[in-house]
Amino acid sequence: MRVQCVICDEIEELTDDTLEAKRLRNRPIHTHLCKQCHDRITARTEVRLATGRFHFFRSSRSIEDDF
Ligand SMILES: [Zn+2]
Repeated sequence: MRVQCVICDEIEELTDDTLEAKRLRNRPIHTHLCKQCHDRITARTEVRLATGRFHFFRSSRSIEDDF
């Protein structure tokens, strides 16, 4: 499956049996971060999740429909 980074729009190919692929398939909103963006914002993400004001991943994008 193909996934698109919600930050930099880079498209990556995920092997279907990876944990992330399974996780993304099981969610109504498919979200993905490329490794670079993930590493960059992980700390910030955790802070926002903790505050309950985390909206960053709420993209309505559904790029899989394009394939
Ligand atoms: Zn990225």
